[in-house]
Amino acid sequence: MTGLRFNVAGLLKEGAGATREYALEAAPRELAGLLDDARPIAPLTGQVRLLRTQRSIFVRGRLKTRVQVECSRCLAETEVPISFDLEEEFFPEIDVTTRHALPKPDDNGLGFMIEPSHELDLGESVRQHMLLELPMQAICRETCAGLCPRCGANLNEGPCACVDDEIDERLAPLRALFEKKP
Ligand SMILES: [Zn+2]
Ligand SMILES: [Zn+2]
Repeated sequence: MTGLRFNVAGLLKEGAGATREYALEAAPRELAGLLDDARPIAPLTGQVRLLRTQRSIFVRGRLKTRVQVECSRCLAETEVPISFDLEEEFFPEIDVTTRHALPKPDDNGLGFMIEPSHELDLGESVRQHMLLELPMQAICRETCAGLCPRCGANLNEGPCACVDDEIDERLAPLRALFEKKP
């Protein structure tokens, strides 16, 4: 099985306790629209286990991928590995055999719905997890020198012209002292 969507019609027809296991693999382009500030550059991979419960399908899995984000200091594209555990309950909208609409569970705020076509879509859950795992302030490397706040030059590529000016400014009061002396 590939992608983030699983047809669970068969599993829904089975009794509570029935399970399915899948090796999940979703191509970066399938994840592309999920995040604004991060570009997936590796497939999302991992194992997922689907458990049929009395009222739902409980999904558990461990997934990983790699995304590209901007270094918060120098703005260069930076690769960040992301991995997370997923534990999510999916409720069927309609009964798989009678095709009658099912009542929404009381705690629906915590779960997701399974589409009437019996497709279980992990997309939104994966998006939320990836968002939580993104570093608030990614850096390309510990020693990243960032951009000069005055001229915007990338200081990883060497000092900018501002450095000399700054030293001059710091020495200015001293110079004034000297200049006062007769
Ligand atoms: Zn950087
Ligand atoms: Zn500068």
